[in-house]
Amino acid sequence: MERARITVFDTTLRDGEQSPGCSLNVQEKLRLAHQLDRLGVDVIEAGFPIASEGDFAAVQAIAGTIRRPIIAGLARACSPDIERAWQALKSAARPRIHVFLATSEIHLQYKLKISRQQCLEQARDSVRRAKSLCADVEFSPEDATRTDHEFLYRVLEAVVEAGVTTLNIPDTVGYSMPEEFGELIRNIRQRVPDSVTISAHCHNDLGLAVANSLAAIAAGARQVECTMNGIGERAGNASLEEIVMAMRVRPDRYPYETGVIADQLFPSSQLLSDLTGSAVQANKAITGRNAFAHEAGIHQDGMLKNPLTYEIMTPQSVGVPDSTLVLGKHSGRHALGLRCEQLGFQFDRRELDEIYRAFVVLADKIKHVEEHHLLELIQIHRSQEGRSTAGRILQGHVGTTPVVAGQSYIHTSMLVPHAAEHNSPLHPAIDHHADQEDYLWGV
Ligand SMILES: [Zn+2]
Repeated sequence: MERARITVFDTTLRDGEQSPGCSLNVQEKLRLAHQLDRLGVDVIEAGFPIASEGDFAAVQAIAGTIRRPIIAGLARACSPDIERAWQALKSAARPRIHVFLATSEIHLQYKLKISRQQCLEQARDSVRRAKSLCADVEFSPEDATRTDHEFLYRVLEAVVEAGVTTLNIPDTVGYSMPEEFGELIRNIRQRVPDSVTISAHCHNDLGLAVANSLAAIAAGARQVECTMNGIGERAGNASLEEIVMAMRVRPDRYPYETGVIADQLFPSSQLLSDLTGSAVQANKAITGRNAFAHEAGIHQDGMLKNPLTYEIMTPQSVGVPDSTLVLGKHSGRHALGLRCEQLGFQFDRRELDEIYRAFVVLADKIKHVEEHHLLELIQIHRSQEGRSTAGRILQGHVGTTPVVAGQSYIHTSMLVPHAAEHNSPLHPAIDHHADQEDYLWGV
């Protein structure tokens, strides 16, 4: 069965950048936009051009530089905003004007102080204005989930007549429940021609932004608006990496595709966090420091036997790097012991000696001993010892454990020393002068 394609609309640079402590300058926005391009998002919402000179300059720079994705600019439902957005966007290869107007009673009454009829006319007229400048126009009825449904459908019908190409349904205040939001999207889908894309824009005030976005997709939405690391107003927006990986890990329930290149997720998250100076929550799904760490001893034991015991996706699949070079043959026993500890294992002197000997032989052959090699070495040692656990498992951190089930990096021949060194046992000097050897190898 062919999988439906979901358009990933990234609003990290607009809705995300609005969050406290996340403001970026033009150069930083441009850098992030290049990374979002590499990540494979379909739409980059680059900013809100009328909001400030800086926003205008950033949207203009991104529109003029990044050619593959659609570049969107936000505008309130009035001519000055729409014209300003168009000025910033017009050099884009694929520009989109994104017009929004609140439709809920509470926003109409207290914020906009306009009647429903005025709202409807303003929405229709502003889409017409945008459409006269740009073929690709998106409309968002702000606070849609708290809008009277019949009135919402009337507004949507009016903007469809005015030529809108994407209808985005925002849960602006993060108020909706997944079933409820799915039902709303289904009802809208039934009322709107197929040529118009339905989009979801969910906020995370109740921690449901991703669940709501997925419910919307299941109900017929074909665009999701989201941000890297879920940054955004208040509790944030739906997290891009979580939506994408949910569909990738569970295609049985969510048979949809995106253009996202998953191994660019972690680098994108890191760049955003570097640029904004705001760290990713440690236990954040997919991109948090602990997302692939296994602390409980029983989990570590399972991970060593087969990563699939506790891992539904590999760290590499989302771009978490295999730990860079861990050790070389010039690393000492102390460094090896320390690294083992970081991986969650503590060995006594005798065990460490044995692993160290095998390590030196291996390091001589493959130069760079990486984490997965070391884990495999520990496994080999353990099977030779015929024990169920290797050393004492510490309450520690396994970090990235790229030992792929059924895939071996070490051949037993790699653990046999070169002929010249064949004066048994392995490295007799190491046996007799362990402390001195530490000094010689350095730590
Ligand atoms: Zn928003």
